[in-house]
Amino acid sequence: MSNIEQTLSIIKPDAVERNLENEIKEMFKNKNFKIVKEKKIQIEKSEAENFYKVHETKPFYNDLCSYLSSGPILVMILEKENAVLDNRELMGATNPKDANDGTIRKKYGISIDKNSVHGSDSIENAKIEIDFFFKD
Ligand code: UDP
Ligand code: MG
Repeated sequence: MSNIEQTLSIIKPDAVERNLENEIKEMFKNKNFKIVKEKKIQIEKSEAENFYKVHETKPFYNDLCSYLSSGPILVMILEKENAVLDNRELMGATNPKDANDGTIRKKYGISIDKNSVHGSDSIENAKIEIDFFFKD
């Protein structure tokens, strides 16, 4: 029985700026994620505000949207069995200080805001987020 899923991953500005794209992509490939589509873009703040709408009441919302639109990002569709949860596990906790060894955020995250990667948190949100960046 196969349970192939897709999820949206973003390598955030702090990691692109430090040229960590290839290292992070290797971590995905080593865990059997297939990178189905990818594109490097810079988004407008208004687009970041739409993308992170779920957080609009949070105190960190404005800074978060400024940050995500502050430089180039690499947006990817990742595919494997249980992709959504497995990506969340590989990313590690939101705050790199709390992230487990072997996770992307433990290895590369700088702080809770500059935590190097985004990943969808549910199958439903993965579909919405993939459409957000890749629907033509
Ligand atoms: N974030 C922040 N301060 C906080 C909590 C979150 O700057 O106190 C940022 C952080 O970059 C995080 C993003 O907001 O990745 C989205 O928050 P969420 O709780 O969805 O964390 P994630 O799903 O990225 O682990
Ligand atoms: Mg989230």
